[in-house]
Amino acid sequence: MGLYRDSGVVLRSHLLGEADKIVTLLTRENGVVRAVAKGVRRTRSRFGARLEPMSHIDLQLHTGRSLDVVTQAETLHAFATDVGGDYARYTAGTAVLETAMRLLPVEREPSPQLYQLLVGGLHALTVTRRDPGLVLDAFGLRALAVAGYGPGFEACTRCGAPGPHTAVALDAGGAVCPQCRPPGAAHVPPETMHLLGVLLSGDWAAAEASEPWARRRASGVVGALLQWHLEAGVRSLRLVERT
Ligand SMILES: [Zn+2]
Repeated sequence: MGLYRDSGVVLRSHLLGEADKIVTLLTRENGVVRAVAKGVRRTRSRFGARLEPMSHIDLQLHTGRSLDVVTQAETLHAFATDVGGDYARYTAGTAVLETAMRLLPVEREPSPQLYQLLVGGLHALTVTRRDPGLVLDAFGLRALAVAGYGPGFEACTRCGAPGPHTAVALDAGGAVCPQCRPPGAAHVPPETMHLLGVLLSGDWAAAEASEPWARRRASGVVGALLQWHLEAGVRSLRLVERT
């Protein structure tokens, strides 16, 4: 492949030895790329700050034997700088990166939708300065949708009976009607179900009109859905390894 260009968001970054840095990026064209940036300490002005987590960069890479090598990096958006000293935004931004990291399938599998979602989420967090908790939950739900887990909070996700419904089943991926409701499904009040729906569809005006208690309940549902699907993913992987 030789030399190639791409744009990406830095998900993780750590120093390797005295002067190098290993970065994990979600790129637009090449999916997850792990690459090494050499001499970041010596040429701190060129690379160091640009390759920090949350940075959105345009970069040039050279295909290497094990890891690709970053040869150029230009900042498209310094999201981490925009966060400033805002701890709630910083924490939410870190959680967004972590969620993206965990939902990503395999290295080099392009996921331009997740890339767009990630850039959009960081933009909403740092530039338009939406509520950090809402940004994180909207990102989680939409990332699940992009990953093919299709959450839904209106019609019953099992039989399609029109909503609104008041229970969520994790294995069904969302709302379930009274007939389909399995034992142990979580009761979700109408206000919370509505909020989950507007977070998924990206209706910020409606999401921001929600009450704090509904946001807390919605966060709990999003966290449980993410947890369930990530663990299910791990389970199916183990099954593949056995067969
Ligand atoms: Zn049903």
